[in-house]
Amino acid sequence: STINDITQYRRDFPALHQEVYGRPLVYLDNAATTQKPQAVIDVLSNYYSADNSNVHRGVHYLSQKATDQFEEARRTLRQFLNAEHEHEIIFTRGTTESINLVASSFGRAFVKEGDAVIISGLEHHSNIVPWQLICEQQKAELRVIPIGQDGDLIMEEYEKLFDDKVKIISLAYVSNALGTVNPVEKIIELAHRHDIPVMLDSAQAIQHMTIDVQKLDVDFLAFSSHKVFGPTGMGILYGKEKWLDKMPPYQGGGEMIKTVSFEKTTFNSLPFKFEAGTPHIAGVIGLDAAIKYVQKVGLKSIRQYEEKLISHAVDELAAIDGLSFVATPKHRSGAISFLLDGIHPFDTGEILDKLGIAVRTGHHCTEPIMDFYGIPGTVRASFAFYNNKTDVNKLKEGILKAQKMLG
Ligand code: PMP
Repeated sequence: STINDITQYRRDFPALHQEVYGRPLVYLDNAATTQKPQAVIDVLSNYYSADNSNVHRGVHYLSQKATDQFEEARRTLRQFLNAEHEHEIIFTRGTTESINLVASSFGRAFVKEGDAVIISGLEHHSNIVPWQLICEQQKAELRVIPIGQDGDLIMEEYEKLFDDKVKIISLAYVSNALGTVNPVEKIIELAHRHDIPVMLDSAQAIQHMTIDVQKLDVDFLAFSSHKVFGPTGMGILYGKEKWLDKMPPYQGGGEMIKTVSFEKTTFNSLPFKFEAGTPHIAGVIGLDAAIKYVQKVGLKSIRQYEEKLISHAVDELAAIDGLSFVATPKHRSGAISFLLDGIHPFDTGEILDKLGIAVRTGHHCTEPIMDFYGIPGTVRASFAFYNNKTDVNKLKEGILKAQKMLG
């Protein structure tokens, strides 16, 4: 099915229907976080009003009910990502924690002195710093796939980074700063030819496109619930069983153990080995509702609708004198970064804000990208499927107004 009329879906998101500074909100900061549909809000409210209890521990009614909903979410996620096993779905606090888990655990087990880890020039800080930390600890080297002016990875250079020292590759599926969709199928295929596992930071892909981890044959995949209409403080790590089984625990505590004595502790099986402590139960159940909501709308339809909307937005913005795009990637999803001649991004953002238009300005936690372009930051408009042409028109009017006031 195709999305012709977005109005019906916009109604599902109460936060979209408010005024800021006396103007209707135009929410174009979806790469930072997405709004929540009523279905998710209701599930959260119901959990805390009626079902609140700890999971996996109690024999009592409420604990059983909470545990059932909690494990139902794992089934939903397995199916959503088309993972082979439910126990390959690990609940974390978000993309950041999922990446730290793999960097720390895989890193300690498999990255040794003199080895190398590959990331890309398009990474969010959360897919740079955890790898830097483990490389420093293990005396390993961090290699970076360079980017070109268009904001695409230079694939010829990627191939040159391989030798037998490389132990893992971790990169963004979609860049949060530039909107670049990386050719992950090709990247994974090449890495696997060298027997190197690949981790995808899918924080910016998860709400925009269908992800099939078996079809991609990706080894690890991370995303945050709040980027796909679910609660904050909740995320997913998918990992192939063959890797997760060989990796040591990331954190120690309750739930992740089989037996504990002062002399020796044995660890629980997957996925619990990587889920120490009381999890964000409401977050897990809320993400379940969010994923079910997305499945109802359909990611294929979302992708089609968004591609049209984004290309419309690119055309409209390109027609503005004195506006330049920071990057022009071959495939774009979600975000458009731009600059206005002679105007600091922060000032543009401030004027847009007063007009009710929420965009993000700054380095977007991607300082190396800003350094590459030699700029302090960008103005970033980022879209979700509930945005429409009215939002694009208001953004355009807002930019023209900002130019008049500041130019
Ligand atoms: N990677 C990318 C590409 C992102 O866009 C973000 C969020 N801006 C993150 C990682 C980090 O996500 P979180 O803060 O939810 O852990």
